[in-house]
Amino acid sequence: MMSDKIIPTIPPELEPFFAAAKEGRLEVQRCVSCGTLRFPARSLCATCLSTQSEWTPVSGRGEVYSFFWMHQVYHPAFAAEVPYAVVVVQLEEGPRLTTNILDCAKDELRVGLPVEVTFEERGPDVRLPQFRPRRA
Ligand SMILES: [Zn+2]
Repeated sequence: MMSDKIIPTIPPELEPFFAAAKEGRLEVQRCVSCGTLRFPARSLCATCLSTQSEWTPVSGRGEVYSFFWMHQVYHPAFAAEVPYAVVVVQLEEGPRLTTNILDCAKDELRVGLPVEVTFEERGPDVRLPQFRPRRA
């Protein structure tokens, strides 16, 4: 599905994240020294202070940790979708991502809802990881 929503500007530290997403993989940073997974990208490991990190694929499965409904229109492309949910997803592997949820009825969204990653086309070269309810 091609969306006319704004294409996110990709900060340099997230280039590996979006390169993986383009190929349909969700990746987070892993500390090379102690193995701690983290997201968003940071230059220092909060556990061992190592600056050595790499990107590693995760399952894309998790659950809703928290959410709120956005009622404000900050960009015209989103006007038809207000209110939309801003969701914090806790991945099975531990890190939390702030994201949007797709294909989810308003009364279906709750803390603890099982979700999985899906990739939304935001332009010829950008696929944005989003989440949807896991129904399997
Ligand atoms: Zn570490």
